[in-house]
Amino acid sequence: MDFRATDEQALLRRTVREFAETEMRPHVREWDQEQHFPVELMPKLAALGLLGIQFPEQYGGAGMAALDYCICLEELARVDPAVALSVAAHNGLCSSHIFLFGSEAQKQRYLTPLARGEKIGGWGLTESTSGSDAAGMRTTATRAGDCWVLNGAKTFTTHGRVADTMVVMAVTDRAAGSKGVSAFIVERGTPGMTPGKKEDKLGMRASDTSEVLYENCRVPASQLLGEEGRGFVDTMQVLDAGRIGIAALAVGLAQGAYEASVSYARERRAFGKTIGAFQAIQWKLADAATKIEAARLLTYRAAYLKQHGARTTLESSMAKLYASEIAVRVAEDAVQIHGGYGFVKDYPAEKYFRDVKLTTIGEGTSEIQRLVIARQLLSR
Ligand SMILES: Cc1cc2nc3c(=O)[nH]c(=O)nc-3n(C[C@H](O)[C@H](O)[C@H](O)COP(=O)(O)OP(=O)(O)OC[C@H]3O[C@@H](n4cnc5c(N)ncnc54)[C@H](O)[C@@H]3O)c2cc1C
Repeated sequence: MDFRATDEQALLRRTVREFAETEMRPHVREWDQEQHFPVELMPKLAALGLLGIQFPEQYGGAGMAALDYCICLEELARVDPAVALSVAAHNGLCSSHIFLFGSEAQKQRYLTPLARGEKIGGWGLTESTSGSDAAGMRTTATRAGDCWVLNGAKTFTTHGRVADTMVVMAVTDRAAGSKGVSAFIVERGTPGMTPGKKEDKLGMRASDTSEVLYENCRVPASQLLGEEGRGFVDTMQVLDAGRIGIAALAVGLAQGAYEASVSYARERRAFGKTIGAFQAIQWKLADAATKIEAARLLTYRAAYLKQHGARTTLESSMAKLYASEIAVRVAEDAVQIHGGYGFVKDYPAEKYFRDVKLTTIGEGTSEIQRLVIARQLLSR
């Protein structure tokens, strides 16, 4: 067991950190206030390989490992968790689903432009009446000759209004329950597919989130992704890996909130001292740093196991649960340490506090992670 970063990992961290500081930090507040999805940042992210982090070079990817993926998401989230969320959804949901379950032809046609960053990906599982209970979806796909016809609506789709390539899950055999769900690739501009309401969100406001409507949307049979009826099972595997990404995002967000707290504790004065001299503040910082390290280790362990070919349902959920919950606490303490200045937008603590809540909800709520963990433990 070696806990040290390799030279390559250290260089990757420095590179993404510098990128985030120069290309993102100056715009974070404006993107958040305007709910602006920074489409102009995409070519720059692509140039660093951040839109195809883990995919092989033969499909236009950067060929990095699962641990590298964590480092990239951490460093992006440290500066702007909303950008990290977009990168996570593009890589870890849409592109990953196509990489894991697509045919060779689908990988060439869809994964390659996604991994190169020429196209933006979205992934639609959640519906207005089925989130945690995803298999209860109502969207259907009916076979009609050499096409599938999709009808229904997806909610909370990251990149719902901007994605060029959408992976969408639909019921193909209602009687078969979760074994009657299939996945499809739908290209932007396909007649019958339209973006719906853009969500006005608490946090992660620079990441586009919206409804996507499907009305008699015909997709060629060749765009069935994976086997018919395997869409839900495949989705669970996509989420096993995706949750490691959300855990890394939470670690990075917590790191950003913690660093803002340390620098504020060093400069803010009260009662003739810097507030960092008070034990009440010191303990918050000590707890935050310790929890972040623990969350990082859980996250890296899940990534390491994935990198070595293991199934990581248990480890991914543990990492996601713990990292997101400690991140909420660290972000809350950051607001407290900033006092009144934690409550206004001139300092970054307020935004971390709004953004962080998504990490205990997206890609499965904390309650669902506990359910997954308990099922894994009891089935052994
Ligand atoms: C910003 C954002 C981006 C998102 N991006 C995407 C995306 O790209 N693609 C996509 O498909 N989805 C996306 N989602 C949806 C997200 O995955 C769901 O919101 C999440 O899974 C929860 O589903 P829900 O909102 O329907 O809540 P519900 O499932 O209705 O849950 C409500 C509450 O009940 C609890 N609950 C539900 N079932 C149980 C149970 N069995 N035991 C205990 N408690 C339970 C939940 O934990 C929660 O506290 C996104 C959401 C947000 C907010």
